[in-house]
Amino acid sequence: MTQAFLELRNIRKNFDSFTAIDGVSLQIPRGEFVTFLGPSGSGKSTTLYVVAGFIEPSAGEVLLNGRSLLGVPPNHRDIGMVFQRYTLFPHLTVAENIAFPLRVRRRPKAEIAAKVDEMLRLVHLSAMRDRKPAQLSGGQQQRVALARALAYDPQILLMDEPLSALDKKLREDLQSEIKRIHAETGVTVIYVTHDQEEALRLSDRIVLFNHGGIEQIGTGEDLYQRPASAFAAGFIGNSN
Ligand code: ADP
Ligand code: MG
Repeated sequence: MTQAFLELRNIRKNFDSFTAIDGVSLQIPRGEFVTFLGPSGSGKSTTLYVVAGFIEPSAGEVLLNGRSLLGVPPNHRDIGMVFQRYTLFPHLTVAENIAFPLRVRRRPKAEIAAKVDEMLRLVHLSAMRDRKPAQLSGGQQQRVALARALAYDPQILLMDEPLSALDKKLREDLQSEIKRIHAETGVTVIYVTHDQEEALRLSDRIVLFNHGGIEQIGTGEDLYQRPASAFAAGFIGNSN
């Protein structure tokens, strides 16, 4: 068997005496779009933050290309991250926000300028480059956050409910954008949502969480047609 690109082995995380996740194991090939789906409190964000390095697991291993990521700080993990909201620097323009991770990495000025232009084109925001975040809609702000997360060509893009604060129409527009950007960049994506329709629309594979563990892993069709449990049947079939 070929080695997985990203692998979680038997991850557990306790917060004091409370076990947030336990026995989470998962292999993700390079370039895949994987969604963590499940109800609120089921452990999706905790698992994502273990991958990002914001949370150190209480037990288990995280491997990227066969090498352990444990102890590697988040900014050395080659991972881009988009959160639900309020993540842009309010005092910086759109272009400066996108440039920020490249400045931190001390890339040459010309390279930064070229990359900012490329990212603005990727998310269709070239006309907004000199605006401040407060002068943008919520959807535009999330596009900037996406552009900033991708600016340094991370190997993995993590998104935690990035569209949950947006209304339905905007959410659907941005879902299409995210799919296009995944196809164009080939970046490996882990996407977190509690919305099963969104998961079905976006994902190559879905990881269904329940009570801090993985209930089922499969394509949308697998989960929809062949739910492994009453919980999976209820959660995936449940439309709202
Ligand atoms: P989800 O993202 O699926 O909504 P989370 O991973 O955020 O779920 O949380 C899983 C469980 O762990 C929840 O019961 C949550 O309250 C708990 N939890 C998450 N972070 C912390 C923390 N820093 N301290 C204590 N409990 C936490
Ligand atoms: Mg969460």
